[in-house]
Amino acid sequence: MSTRAGIVVTGTEVLTGRVTDLNGPWLADRLLELGVELAHITICGDRPADIASALKFHADEGVDLILTSGGLGPTADDMTVAVVAEFCGRELVLDADLEARIAAILKRMMRRFPDADFDAVMAANRKQAMIPLGAEVLNPVGTAPGVVVEGTPTVVVLPGPPRELQPMWSTALDTEGVRRAIAGRTEYRQETVRMYGLPESGLAETLRLAEKKIDGFDRLEITTCLRRGELEIVTRYEPADAETYREVVALLNEQHGTDVYSTDGSTVDDQVAGLLAGRTIATAESCTAGLVAARLTDRPGSSAYVMGGAVVYSNEAKSELLGVDPALIAAHGAVSEPVAEAMAAGALRRFGVDTAVAITGIAGPGGGSAEKPVGTVCFTVARADGATLTRTVLLPGERADIRERSTTVAMHLLRKLLQTP
Ligand code: ATP
Ligand code: MG
Repeated sequence: MSTRAGIVVTGTEVLTGRVTDLNGPWLADRLLELGVELAHITICGDRPADIASALKFHADEGVDLILTSGGLGPTADDMTVAVVAEFCGRELVLDADLEARIAAILKRMMRRFPDADFDAVMAANRKQAMIPLGAEVLNPVGTAPGVVVEGTPTVVVLPGPPRELQPMWSTALDTEGVRRAIAGRTEYRQETVRMYGLPESGLAETLRLAEKKIDGFDRLEITTCLRRGELEIVTRYEPADAETYREVVALLNEQHGTDVYSTDGSTVDDQVAGLLAGRTIATAESCTAGLVAARLTDRPGSSAYVMGGAVVYSNEAKSELLGVDPALIAAHGAVSEPVAEAMAAGALRRFGVDTAVAITGIAGPGGGSAEKPVGTVCFTVARADGATLTRTVLLPGERADIRERSTTVAMHLLRKLLQTP
């Protein structure tokens, strides 16, 4: 029997969608890594009765562990600890030691507000030092402490702000209550294969073949998903099935060779960042208007190789900023391979870099023609030593999809160019 868990996300702002839930998915990943099976994530508002019925729902499902997020603050709408105490049949008691620790944190914070009334703030925060009798306390990262209440199920109460919840979950893992609740878990490994250029149906066919050819295939838990124009194959397995997993990866490589670009968990962004070490890059973007520059600079440390980019939406901007010959645009159209090439050459020159990526396309919904329908996007990636790759692709979807997908195509072309000797 494996260990199962449920997650109770609280907060009216999350329920209504004003704040996107970051805690449920993050905790889901952590549970997966641990080998704890996640049964459900529920979201409810800041109403005690709703929090109580969410707890009851998960308990009735027979989970071993419930994690809650949110509602630990000093204000009246923060009631999770009180609800959990009642749910677990424990009295709420003042933890004097904890109260002193919170007071010390508040004293430090209040140096910035010399006029505030410390006693009033402390009174409002005394509530945060009330914990269910016998619960283990998780030291606050902000001002709100968490608690672990051991039982059937064990309940772990965590704060709402993700930057507080995440370190406090690590602390929770070291408590006796959580350790005992997850003692029965099965150890899993999880690995990811990433592919680019293959339709999902092609992969489905290979997985059917694997099912026939590979012994023990059904013991692997495989999920495939299309993300950002790529196929992601996530496999979970028990350590004893490692050889079976290796056979599946070998079969994927055998069937799809160059489409398989990552078997070690790295993303195309990771790989491009690695390949750009010691180099310099600039972008020349029309239809994506800076999305590639944004994607390249998403990661810390990218300033070592990203020099800049030009958003050249109009024909005039293409000519004036990047030196694209207006006659070339007149002859071939702004969305054409010669113009993409000229944009890349212009970016190499203008920024004095050794690598450039240029994109020009029709994101729609207007502007398409029979010859160049919406979704037509031309790419050139170029190196200062003369190596270039130019492609025209027809991307599916709406404006936002086409622009987003274009950044993925650009990343894969960069990867290919930079891997070329
Ligand atoms: P605080 O002491 O800050 O009030 P809290 O534990 O009471 O902590 P909440 O009041 O539930 O937390 O949420 C505080 C803020 O944290 C929210 O306004 C929101 O910005 C963020 N937050 C809460 N829950 C989530 C969530 N599930 N995903 C992302 N952000 C969240
Ligand atoms: Mg709050």
